[in-house]
Amino acid sequence: MNNQIKLLDNSTINKIAAGEVIERPASVIKELIENSIDALSSFITIEIKDGGKNYIRVTDNGIGISPKYIELAFLRHSTSKINGVDDLQSLSTLGFRGEALPSIASVSQLELITRTKDNIGGVRISINGGQIIEKNEIGCPIGTTIILKNLFFNVPVRQKFLKSDAAEASNVSDIVYKLALGNPGIKFKFIKDNKVILNTPGNEDIKSTAYSLLGKEFVSSMFDIEYSGDDIKINGLVCKPSFTRGNRNHQYTYVNGRYIKNEDITEIIEDLYKTLIPINRFPVYIIYINISPELIDVNVHPTKTEIRFSNKEALKKILSNAIKSTFFNNTLIPTVTLPT
Ligand code: ADP
Ligand code: MG
Repeated sequence: MNNQIKLLDNSTINKIAAGEVIERPASVIKELIENSIDALSSFITIEIKDGGKNYIRVTDNGIGISPKYIELAFLRHSTSKINGVDDLQSLSTLGFRGEALPSIASVSQLELITRTKDNIGGVRISINGGQIIEKNEIGCPIGTTIILKNLFFNVPVRQKFLKSDAAEASNVSDIVYKLALGNPGIKFKFIKDNKVILNTPGNEDIKSTAYSLLGKEFVSSMFDIEYSGDDIKINGLVCKPSFTRGNRNHQYTYVNGRYIKNEDITEIIEDLYKTLIPINRFPVYIIYINISPELIDVNVHPTKTEIRFSNKEALKKILSNAIKSTFFNNTLIPTVTLPT
């Protein structure tokens, strides 16, 4: 270091920023799928080879990108999802920072093919380490396909930190499963090394989606929960006390379609099960919370897996009552008959 301060060039800025959100193939997949969900797709196909290190493809049938905006999509802080900070209050999309595409493009060899319904043809653009190398018209269906090769080819330090193909593939699977489970209205197909690993029905139905992802025993071991209020709706599945796990890997919470981790929610649910299940066992659950965007803040963490609720206490009460009434309906909470 010396004492000459200078502004870094764009390609360096993008590569450094990529470090925040793009750590491994699974983080690329998360960002690409979230973009496909935001684009209102009803069918998303994810394909990886070699754990995603050498090949990643995400294809959707969403709204596509207009030819005039394609270059802009790869510029840092350019987004179609918000106009200003006020829009964060009513955010209905998973993305809003405009960082994923430029970050991903700066550390890989990428090809994007896209078409909107207003164009009879599509556009294909190739980008190598952040540099556009080719752009042409192409015939293609409405929607977007992104193909990525050689992730981190120009950032050897990152490449070195990647784990085995099998370990990276398992991280990717985990993300795909979580996003598929969180979006039962979207059909997901996941192909790993030329084999189809999963197919969800995309029919909005939680049980058949959970069946396709987690199996028959899982679904038949769950109770439904449901609550509907003015600005909050909760539904989902919570386990019968006989169906617990030795870890928390099957605890899924979604808020407005976003997979989140929230200790308060875990605590409320685990408390309710405390007297029903053995020590060191954990309940299994899938909880979907649909809440007015004004009542949450998602701009807390770069990966957006943590959110803040403006009225935590009210949420706790509602969730706890919803589960208690399911327990009650299934006679897990004994009723006391008073002598007349
Ligand atoms: P963000 O999602 O935060 O807006 P991204 O860098 O992920 O930022 O994407 C930049 C923009 O590119 C998006 O705002 C969107 O307009 C467009 N885009 C990206 N992926 C898709 C897609 N699969 N379908 C349609 N538009 C997309
Ligand atoms: Mg995005």
